[in-house]
Amino acid sequence: MPFVFDFDHTHRRPPMEMKDLLGGKGANLAEMTSVLRLPVPPGFTISTDACRAYMDGGWPEELTAQVARARARLERAMGKRIGDADDPLLVSVRSGAKFSMPGMMDTVLNLGLNDWSVVGLARQTGDERFAYDSYRRFVAMYGRIVLDVPGEEFDALLEAAKELAGTTSDAGVPVQLLQYLVDAYQQIVERHTGRPFPQDPDDQLRGAIEAVFASWNGPRAIAYRNQERIAHDLGTAVNVQAMVFGNRDDNSGTGVGFTRDPATGEKGAYGDFLVNAQGEDVVAGIRNTESLADLQKKFPRIHTELLAIFARLEGHYRDMCDTEFTIEQGKLWMLQTRVGKRTGRAALKMAVDMVAEPRLKVSKEEAVGRITADHLDQVLHPQFTGSGYEVLVKGLGASPGAAVGRVYLTADDAQAAAERGEKVVLVRSETSPEDVHGMLAAEGILTARGGLVSHAAVVARGWGKPAVVGAESVSIGDSSFSVGTTVVHQGDWISVDGTTGKVMLGQIPVSRGETPPEFGTILSWADAIRGDALAIRANADNGPDATNARHHGAQGIGLCRTEHMFLADDRLPIVRRMILASTPEEETSALEELRRVQRVDFAEILEAMDGLPVTIRLLDPPLHEFLPSTEELSIKEATVGLTDEEQRLFEAAKSWHEFNPMLGTRGVRLGVLRPGLYAMQVRALMEAALDRVDAGGHPVVEIMIPLTVSREEMALARSWVEAAVESTVAHSAERDGRTATKGGRAASARRNAATRDVIAAGGLDVTIGTMVETPRAALRAGEIAEVADFFSFGTNDLTQMTFGFSRDDVEGRMMSAYLELGLLKRNPFEVVDPDGVGELVRLGVERGRATRPELKIGVCGEHGGDPESIATFAAAGLDYVSCSPFRVPIARLAAAQAVLAGLARRGPTRVATKKAPARKSATTAAKALARKAATTAAKAPARKSATTAAKAPARKSATTAAKAPRARSGR
Ligand code: PEP
Ligand code: MG
Repeated sequence: MPFVFDFDHTHRRPPMEMKDLLGGKGANLAEMTSVLRLPVPPGFTISTDACRAYMDGGWPEELTAQVARARARLERAMGKRIGDADDPLLVSVRSGAKFSMPGMMDTVLNLGLNDWSVVGLARQTGDERFAYDSYRRFVAMYGRIVLDVPGEEFDALLEAAKELAGTTSDAGVPVQLLQYLVDAYQQIVERHTGRPFPQDPDDQLRGAIEAVFASWNGPRAIAYRNQERIAHDLGTAVNVQAMVFGNRDDNSGTGVGFTRDPATGEKGAYGDFLVNAQGEDVVAGIRNTESLADLQKKFPRIHTELLAIFARLEGHYRDMCDTEFTIEQGKLWMLQTRVGKRTGRAALKMAVDMVAEPRLKVSKEEAVGRITADHLDQVLHPQFTGSGYEVLVKGLGASPGAAVGRVYLTADDAQAAAERGEKVVLVRSETSPEDVHGMLAAEGILTARGGLVSHAAVVARGWGKPAVVGAESVSIGDSSFSVGTTVVHQGDWISVDGTTGKVMLGQIPVSRGETPPEFGTILSWADAIRGDALAIRANADNGPDATNARHHGAQGIGLCRTEHMFLADDRLPIVRRMILASTPEEETSALEELRRVQRVDFAEILEAMDGLPVTIRLLDPPLHEFLPSTEELSIKEATVGLTDEEQRLFEAAKSWHEFNPMLGTRGVRLGVLRPGLYAMQVRALMEAALDRVDAGGHPVVEIMIPLTVSREEMALARSWVEAAVESTVAHSAERDGRTATKGGRAASARRNAATRDVIAAGGLDVTIGTMVETPRAALRAGEIAEVADFFSFGTNDLTQMTFGFSRDDVEGRMMSAYLELGLLKRNPFEVVDPDGVGELVRLGVERGRATRPELKIGVCGEHGGDPESIATFAAAGLDYVSCSPFRVPIARLAAAQAVLAGLARRGPTRVATKKAPARKSATTAAKALARKAATTAAKAPARKSATTAAKAPARKSATTAAKAPRARSGR
């Protein structure tokens, strides 16, 4: 098998399309040499096939001869031989995988120098100092990079030599000391390896090539591939290239150049340059670099040549290129090029600018394809400037962006500090609905526990607030938290990067997130590409969030978690009154109060989303989430004692306690126990909808039942909802009739007629559907669809239940181990598992639509904002995805990219109307089933009256209950 290809080899395809085989660097070197015929120092690439063969069974036999032949060709081309004692050829050896990766072997320069060839180099260049300095650098580089000798030993000797010479710069070390250093370096190598420094160029070359292969499986490279989801079996290529020297004299130099500014995207060449220097000097920042304008002053002819090359490169690659170049005694050499990395702002500007430049022939589709979710995140959220900060702890990046603030450990303290004008980071073991006010006051959030769908993660994402969750090594005390031996006190500054999951001590400078004008342009192109293929909705629970979502381009609300409305300071006491009610009258009165406040919330959301669908999910979490924690109350009981009110709350909390609340009285099951609750919510919603109609709006209401697992359950829930809808509309007509007698009767009559008409005509769209959050619901989708107008996959719970992974526990504790060991390719709470959960989604869609072809289907789990998951959902034929408002732009982009990849199905989003025959039959079927289910349910012992349920004795003693972890749902 051919393993080695010269840069000027004639490939059958353009080399730049052969990165799989040649690696990124090798492909571009071949493209520059054989296609563009640019001045590239000759060389050859050892392919990734060779690396894979090496990983499978060690050094491939035939590779030795192939490398020897390639070396001979290179020597012929250069008219010099490697290791020659008179006029030696020196080469560089570089790794070059398909994707550029940190952790791969560093470059080895000056390979081929030995005790003889250094003399030849000195003679040929007439510069003994240059020759010995090159040899010194080579021994140190080879020793450190290939032979694993600790680099500090070489550095310490060099520092000592400088001191002896009375100089602070490497260039000031005289040749005699350099010769001494070469000797001493070789002794260090021998001491560490037990063998003399290799003098034979063949040994040097083979050692360097093997070291590149081995670095593919180094721990840093593996960790990077895990993080970036790069396959471990790609292997790396190796590039061997003739050396040219930018450090020969003042007529030489080296630099890096970009065909446009990679930070801003502005047109025009941009770069750094140093006279009389090697490439590493530019990157190391030892000397202050000069700009390309300086290059123009010093080397005008080369500057013109370089700009012409930049133009050719950009025209050829049809994108911004990043290059390395060297000037050796007045001659320009191009060492590398690749399509350059860029900031989010630059990516957007370049993509839009390039479409407007006919010579580049970049289409809008291509421009959209060049933008990543990361680019959008960078302009949407604040970012830390600079890099290389010391990381205190790393958790899961749960909500992107940078936040800096003083540490506060309770929500109350965080809120109080924010009210004093301080910037705050709330640090909690985990958050619960009781912490919401502190989270709102904070710049950012850090939790020690919980995963990507934990309470902290979901809430922070919804608000676009930076959050790091599940930082397991954070241990939280009363007035400080610690990570190992570092203690961070309340009031100390920390910086939280919700994009990378890193937390740093102190205040790191932040650049504001600002969306440039090209942001809107790219998204409008993305929308045009997407057309009607996959709608994007938002998860939002209040008017401002809904407004924000619409501003970001949401086409409706895919999930309103109504429980969030119960958490405000003025709501919680009413909810608790409802839970504590000991008579039906008390319960009704609490529900009435809740109805009034929920109506206002619903009105705001419907107004913000007027004309667009709004999916309101009826209450999902277990009621105990609205009660104080049993742990806290039992401590208080044992210490200072409880007030009467607290005692009652404690009893209720104990009675509602469940060992696994995520699988307990949640979702529709709660509705079965407390049907009055769902009826109240529907009444509040319908009143708000009728108000909108009165105000001339067009509310489109989708009422969603959470966690159903069967047709019977859904039919029963549907019957409550329908009854509440009908009674509210009827009641509203009556009430308005009475009002009319006081005011303008004619106007009111018109209004009632109009309201009834719009409902009848479908102007007030009300549909009733369900979440699909359990494997059973997905499997039985066919029959559930008989009584549901729409499905929304709740992939947070579906993932939890498909894997049997607790969504609140596994991510901090075991996920990283699973990812490192390759037991999972991705965190399934971040990227939907395409095989298991994805299969259930596909089945659910197929079976649901087999019953009801027009069934509208979406997803509202956190995966709805993840680009890879969006591709899976598009391919499954979903009508929409729903995600937090700040992720809507990313979802718009990802959906367009899914369309470009041919994944999404086209067709208008289906809206079932009352008139549709399928819907009618669903309603009839629902009614029949509901009657049956209601009779059965009424008989079932589980359906205790609210009062009985609330009073039910705690199943375990208070002590056991207090120890059990309190449920932290993702809501
Ligand atoms: C889900 O389970 O995916 C979902 C959206 O519901 P929640 O996160 O509120 O449980
Ligand atoms: Mg759920």
